[in-house]
Amino acid sequence: MHLKKTLIGTRGAHMDKSTYTLVCGLEVHAELKTASKMFCGCTNDPFHAEKPNTFTCPVCLGMPGGLPVANKKAIEWTIKLGLALGCKVNLFSHFDRKNYFYPDLAKGYQISQYDAPFCYDGVLNTDLGPVRIRRIHLEEDTAKLLHKTVNDKKVSLIDFNRSGVPLVEIVTEPDIHSPEHAKAYAKKLRQILRYLDIADCDMEQGGMRLEANISLRAEGATDLPNYKVEIKNINSFRFLEKAAQYEIKRQSELLAKGETPAQETRGWNEEKGQTFSQRSKEDAEDYRYFPDPDIPPIRFTEAQINDIRANIPELPSAVTARWLKEFQVEERFGEMLCENREEVEWAERVFRTAKAENITVNSLASAIVNKKITANTGDDAVKVVAAFKQTQQTDQVDPKLIASTIQEIMNENPDAIAQFKAGKTQVIGFFIGQVQRKLGKKVDARELQAQIITSINSK
Ligand code: ZN
Ligand code: MN
Repeated sequence: MHLKKTLIGTRGAHMDKSTYTLVCGLEVHAELKTASKMFCGCTNDPFHAEKPNTFTCPVCLGMPGGLPVANKKAIEWTIKLGLALGCKVNLFSHFDRKNYFYPDLAKGYQISQYDAPFCYDGVLNTDLGPVRIRRIHLEEDTAKLLHKTVNDKKVSLIDFNRSGVPLVEIVTEPDIHSPEHAKAYAKKLRQILRYLDIADCDMEQGGMRLEANISLRAEGATDLPNYKVEIKNINSFRFLEKAAQYEIKRQSELLAKGETPAQETRGWNEEKGQTFSQRSKEDAEDYRYFPDPDIPPIRFTEAQINDIRANIPELPSAVTARWLKEFQVEERFGEMLCENREEVEWAERVFRTAKAENITVNSLASAIVNKKITANTGDDAVKVVAAFKQTQQTDQVDPKLIASTIQEIMNENPDAIAQFKAGKTQVIGFFIGQVQRKLGKKVDARELQAQIITSINSK
């Protein structure tokens, strides 16, 4: 994305014509949908808990002496995601403590991974270009703070149902060069997380959260800018795009004045459509990371990794490419039928059935995507194809018979003709219905409409 540098009228000194390029990396957190939490046996279902603080135990409440035990499934799923994104896997890995204080973090540290993440060096291809994955690590979610008013007093309440939920963090290289690219990457990542059936990514509830590191550099420059602004609290793809657009404008104005934007963390305010300064950015050293002494390091064998790899289903990008080849289904339709594995298998059955009946599969895919036929993924393929055929099918009727039937209906309904001529064009539906009924056949409605209008206008 290239922007004209903002021109400063009065000062004049910086009125050159240089432009800036966006340099953006994303950090995405997604809650894994394992049955139990990351380091204890508590139920992992914070969004459906009946009451706050019910899915808790000494470990996820952060009580002294509580001993964490790592969730094997969460680790396997993290590696599965990494492999799906072409990452390398660290055969030796461990968990670290990231120390900081906040009321939603009772232990005073978050169990995360620092120098040995489970996965690293991957790539996710989008329509707007590839985005390299720097690392994927596993950590625990924090409790949730609720700011409320109780008895006229403003209070902050803490719900620990979310504390200790497995949280996977996917960090990219700064390969994103437009707000649209950021959005495309995040959407595709969500699709893969859902497709692998490891995360629901409900963004409204906070099941998937986005952070963007944004800076600008002069067009043509290749080195990284000497500052970085982190935007937090982004909970929709649209806000991500808007926040990036806003930062491009804000930062380019500062740079045009010869200033360097401050290295800081900013939030996104949706009402104002602006980012706002929250705090100066901390460095990794501030967290005093060190290996968690309560959790043994983890070793994998190549064979174990290959087992996980063998269980990765054909991914959406491969499915849509194959559908194009096999069924001539355009990729834009294919992509919309790749939400999850179940949907893909269903669409595949429908396509095969259609192809066997010599139906243009792409038209059928278009009809499903555009909701021209009502089809649920539970519906039988034969039924779906039959429903589509009905929308396509028209009876062969002698054109002379159609013309004479139209005339008969016209003669019987002079009032409706007057209404049409007075501008009440919806009576055309009445005429079409009458003609179809009289013929007792299904005639292409669009064709019929054209003929009826011609004959009304000739009256
Ligand atoms: Zn617990
Ligand atoms: Mn994190």
